[in-house]
Amino acid sequence: MAHAIAADRGSPIHKLDSALAAKIAAGEVVERPASVVKELLENAIDAGATRVRVELEGGGQALIRVQDDGCGIPAGEVDLAFQRHATSKLAVLDDLFHIRTLGFRGEALPSIAAVAKVELATRAAGASHGVVVHAQGTDVTPATPRGLPYGTTVTVRDLFAAVPARLKFLKSRAGEVAAVQGVVAHYAMAYPQLRLTLYSDGRPVFSSPGSGALSDVLGALYGAEVVGRMLELCAEHRETTVRGLTSPPDLTRPSRAYQSFFVNGRWVRNRMLTAALAEAYHTHLMVGRHPICVVYLALPPALVDVNVHPAKTEVKFLYDREVFVAVRNAASAAVLATMPEPGRKLAGLDPPADGSSATEQQALDLEAPAGLPGPGPRDGTAGPAARPRSGMMPLLRVLGQASNLYIIAEGPDGVYMVDQHAAHERVLFDELMAVAPQRPIEAQFLLEPVAIELSAAQFEALDECAAALEPLGFQVEPFGTAACLVRAVPAVLSAGNPTGALHELLESRVARGGDASPAGWRERSLTTIACRSAVKAGQPLSMEEMRQLIYRLETTARPRTCPHGRPTMILLTASQLEREFGRRG
Ligand code: ADP
Ligand code: MG
Repeated sequence: MAHAIAADRGSPIHKLDSALAAKIAAGEVVERPASVVKELLENAIDAGATRVRVELEGGGQALIRVQDDGCGIPAGEVDLAFQRHATSKLAVLDDLFHIRTLGFRGEALPSIAAVAKVELATRAAGASHGVVVHAQGTDVTPATPRGLPYGTTVTVRDLFAAVPARLKFLKSRAGEVAAVQGVVAHYAMAYPQLRLTLYSDGRPVFSSPGSGALSDVLGALYGAEVVGRMLELCAEHRETTVRGLTSPPDLTRPSRAYQSFFVNGRWVRNRMLTAALAEAYHTHLMVGRHPICVVYLALPPALVDVNVHPAKTEVKFLYDREVFVAVRNAASAAVLATMPEPGRKLAGLDPPADGSSATEQQALDLEAPAGLPGPGPRDGTAGPAARPRSGMMPLLRVLGQASNLYIIAEGPDGVYMVDQHAAHERVLFDELMAVAPQRPIEAQFLLEPVAIELSAAQFEALDECAAALEPLGFQVEPFGTAACLVRAVPAVLSAGNPTGALHELLESRVARGGDASPAGWRERSLTTIACRSAVKAGQPLSMEEMRQLIYRLETTARPRTCPHGRPTMILLTASQLEREFGRRG
């Protein structure tokens, strides 16, 4: 048996030649244009740059250029920068436990050169002129002198041209540009004093003002309205300091993509941190909604391990629990400050969902049962951040839930029964349709890809429509002969039923034999996604969740029907009730 196995292995154990080994190592660091931009940006920041310009051509596959005004590299060291594990940032093992720079592994430049053509032009501070080198694979040309401004410009051409297997995994151009934009935006948040600009095919995509204020960066990213409502985070616990901004409980998003965490200046993803934030908002949020935040954590470098992952986006904390408490307490303090006084809360008056003050909300709740006709009082009292009501349904006061399915509410003209699933479906559908058609629906990447079984027809449909699923937030590829591997799902769906949605999307593709109109496909798909994401019949909801749902329903254009056209609510009018009770003839 042992023989058979050995024979199947193809070749005996041997050392990989250095070019191949470099490509494999590069795969860990360089996955797509966004990872190249991330590494080059980190180098610029480590070099003390105040301005960084990022340019892309062809989604970054044709060209990525990062230009900084940092300290530059002395002419004599330029070729060293391309050698693996060559770094100016770490000298002895002990340094690894006190890392203050973003880079330290000395892997980025050689990894990029392993999978692209790289030109590095640099002039060190104080040098009379600059130098240029070209690197490709493991070859580096000798440095040639050139007149250059201070700083460093790295140009990366033909990314993955020699690694077709990687090319296949790249998304559409727009998808890659969006990923780069995400990276640039996060570094802008992490370093508000940095002036960062991003161009794609010559067009400006993003620029951060570099004023030093986080609120200015957030204004450029999320708009002044959001920024105006954000709450300050400020807390210390043991050795962890927490600063930043977080949203009030009624300013939320359908996914965690608007939550950014930075540890000692490094953008990180960490489940414990998102859990700490979630705990602070617990019971204040509608199911499937998440606050917006930018959280800066500062703690002694010796208490953080950043050397967990080659891309350095994951960190481990020596004292997890302390960091958890620090973040939760900071967010709790911010959230509690927005709450009405305890007495009011007991009376069922929860924080306003529209930017009006608690007092205005109280007036509203007292007036609504009296049955004010015409436009609701919110229209008159709402602050600048109020969302417009559609006016297609009256203001409702939630009374309770029946059969874990219907929200019973009172309106000016009678008693309403609202189907919680249908209503949520309408809300989610409108929110998804509000995303511009050329922009992808927000995706949630899975920690590990999940395999899903498919029927033969579905499997065949997948082949034809995997690309059409991507703008919807799905990343799916065929797996074996009767299954697919799911790497990402639409963020709204992550708490719902992604498998059901995927089956249904493929089924609809099968039924129609492809799809002529992209707009029709998008709309039908978003209907499916909304349906599979919405709360189901049988789920108990809290009063606050019901109020939030009704409020969001009020802001939709067609609150009275679900996207399938079924009614979301029925009304028992006052006169109907009077008749039924024999109060009137
Ligand atoms: P690391 O950042 O982990 O040290 P890199 O491969 O990214 O490894 O870079 C290697 C070295 O090249 C860095 O340690 C630094 O000395 C130098 N370097 C790279 N990019 C720049 C830059 N933009 N400005 C100044 N020096 C740079
Ligand atoms: Mg680096």
